Amino acid sequence: MSAPPGFLPWQHDTAEQWLGRRERFAHAWLIHGLAGIGKRRFALAAAASLLCESPQRGIACGRCHACAWVASGNHPDLRRIRPDAVAAQEGEDAADEAAEPAGGSARKAPSRDIRVEQLRALHDWFNTATHRGGWRVAVLYPAEALNIISANALLKVLEEPPANTVFLLTADAPDRLLPTLVSRCRRLPLPVPRPEQCLPWLREQGLTDPGPWLAVAGGAPLLALERARSGEDHACPAWLKQLLSPLAQGGAPEIGPLADLLEKQAPAAWIDALQRLFVDLSLAAVQAPVRYFPEQEKGLRAIAQRASRERLAEAAKWLASQRAVADHPLNAKLFTHAALQRVVQACGPAASTETV
Ligand SMILES: [Zn+2]
Repeated sequence: MSAPPGFLPWQHDTAEQWLGRRERFAHAWLIHGLAGIGKRRFALAAAASLLCESPQRGIACGRCHACAWVASGNHPDLRRIRPDAVAAQEGEDAADEAAEPAGGSARKAPSRDIRVEQLRALHDWFNTATHRGGWRVAVLYPAEALNIISANALLKVLEEPPANTVFLLTADAPDRLLPTLVSRCRRLPLPVPRPEQCLPWLREQGLTDPGPWLAVAGGAPLLALERARSGEDHACPAWLKQLLSPLAQGGAPEIGPLADLLEKQAPAAWIDALQRLFVDLSLAAVQAPVRYFPEQEKGLRAIAQRASRERLAEAAKWLASQRAVADHPLNAKLFTHAALQRVVQACGPAASTETV
């Protein structure tokens, strides 16, 4: 028998404290924090703990009937509300998930939204008695996937909450959600774990040298693991090294071949990497330790010493503005060239860039 989803090692203390105050538990929680720190896992483990018949210090025992039901995905008092696209991905990740019934004969891409029908479908569930009069738990993730219609439907539910029901929502950034919805939830911020809390776990997952992966993921362990398993050889992508090493020596990289490489990738991914690079350059410029690419620290310092700080700040700002529209570049070729040119100019020696 498999156990229900448990908390990750760095989540235990928060979970115990939070679940320990169960008598005054709110009926809706917004669990938020940086992407990739394990918020979904936390919410699912919390659901298991709330449903467990004999929790140990607030946390699911893993042995009772309720825990077995949760583990098999069959607990009648637990609902997961997530976009079909997320459910499909989970199905690929974990084969124990029952296949979702196909929505009609036409095969179309699964929805990325949480649809209003998913919330309407809960009403019958609210009217059914719970197992032994316990909790009913709805885990909704990510809350950013609510569209305006489904968000309003959820808001209606939360305005007149059904008895014994707890909603656990997860979100990377609560400020991107409907404010009225946020105001109906109690907030539970999850911190970014300290490296010593999650490096052993990353090693257990099979990473021999997890440090650079954790750094490039901004300290988010699940993101680090995903990146390490994505097929890249190194935490610092090869194209970024090709870009940096001539710059570090005061030269200029060839933009053409680099642009060809980037064109094949999702713009959001390489713009993210460049944004991290500029954070590191701004840290290197003030002699602070770099955050994302510690292995490139020497080269980053060399670049930061020569470059103009204003230029670096401008380029970082420009990248942030491009990140917002990056998913739909009008012309990928022009866009990658323009971005790389901008980066190279910003990283060049301060004097020579003044005239560009
Ligand atoms: Zn249990």
